[in-house]
Amino acid sequence: MSLNRREFIAIGGAAAAATALAPGLRLVELAQARSPDEAVTSLQRWGLLVDIGKCHDCDACVTACHEENGIQSHGRPATDAQWIRKVTLKDKQTGYVQTLPVMCQHCEHPPCVDVCPTGASFKRADGIVLVDKHICIGCRYCMMACPYKARSFVHEKTTEQKPHAPRGMGTVESCTLCVHRVDAGKIPACVEACNKDGNQAMVFGDLKDPNSAITKQLASAPSTQLRPDLNLNTGVRYRGI
Ligand code: SF4
Ligand code: SF4
Repeated sequence: MSLNRREFIAIGGAAAAATALAPGLRLVELAQARSPDEAVTSLQRWGLLVDIGKCHDCDACVTACHEENGIQSHGRPATDAQWIRKVTLKDKQTGYVQTLPVMCQHCEHPPCVDVCPTGASFKRADGIVLVDKHICIGCRYCMMACPYKARSFVHEKTTEQKPHAPRGMGTVESCTLCVHRVDAGKIPACVEACNKDGNQAMVFGDLKDPNSAITKQLASAPSTQLRPDLNLNTGVRYRGI
């Protein structure tokens, strides 16, 4: 997928440079596990920082997402489910090309939730935006409302479903931030795969924890949201765009 860079992102002046990690900061952070009987709390807000300067032209994150969540290709790229996809940005003036992984941005003010007529789209107290497949009627309003084209409609019967990632033909779905892993104190599969391959382009953690690696990194160097003009206060941030 190729987008005009200006169409996709408005960049603040401070957000232009790719920046090296501060020495001593951890790239991998375990999610803070809750016991199963503990309620999700707004004291946490889960987020992701993607450093495009470290993102190589591989598909490790996409492959890991598909394996983790039981997503198969049906040979129809235009309609196959894509919880995370690589997007190419090209600066028309200079010809400079970048690719970046794009997934649900887990907006603080999610338009997908605003338009959903059934309440199937919802945001957890900790900021993770999900779809309740039991309530979703497949109207696809949320797909139209999402400015990041982050949602997919399931056209085919689903096979090889994972118990932790229920899917259903005729419903809409998107990145869950691997909520099943986060609730078990693990990091999302895409982050784990990126780090395992040595790229270490993604940091996951609690945006409300001043001591988390992601919070420290966001405070130490410029980053940006995609389409910050929309004021959605996304949980996913980028560096180096
Ligand atoms: S990125 Fe799209 S699907 Fe995700 S919360 Fe925002 S509007 Fe909803
Ligand atoms: S497709 Fe499902 S989640 Fe999306 S707006 Fe319709 S009912 Fe809500």
